[in-house]
Amino acid sequence: MLRGAALRVTRPRVAVLSAVHDHPHADTDSIIRSVRESLGEVSHQAVYDVLRALTAARLLRRIQPSGSVARYESRVGDNHHHVVCRSCGAIADVDCAVGDAPCMTAVNDHGFAVDEAEVTYWARCPDCQQRPHTRSKQRDKEKN
Ligand SMILES: [Zn+2]
Ligand SMILES: [Zn+2]
Repeated sequence: MLRGAALRVTRPRVAVLSAVHDHPHADTDSIIRSVRESLGEVSHQAVYDVLRALTAARLLRRIQPSGSVARYESRVGDNHHHVVCRSCGAIADVDCAVGDAPCMTAVNDHGFAVDEAEVTYWARCPDCQQRPHTRSKQRDKEKN
């Protein structure tokens, strides 16, 4: 993958790629943890730099649902969407509804050349539906 993107193959880059591959939608902290498990001590900054380089080379996709920290995934280039749990923040992939990216055809694109659509479905995950007494973050906010 790295060679295909004309990037030098380094141990941190390989470790970050495989960490994200194994843990889709991981945040930076859990990526750092899993990189350290395979490489030993690696600085936060080194991992941030690698994440930025891999995202710029489109080997990784960065998503950031509102209220969440940035998360990374190695499933790139297919314009898939995400369903996010309002209570615990769990994230899952959602394919485009019909065929290839029908949501790319905006009703009114205002003359912009659209090349990507990003849809976030807000929901409650199955685990949280089992726990009716878990207060959602949203309700906490409204109370304050
Ligand atoms: Zn949940
Ligand atoms: Zn995804």
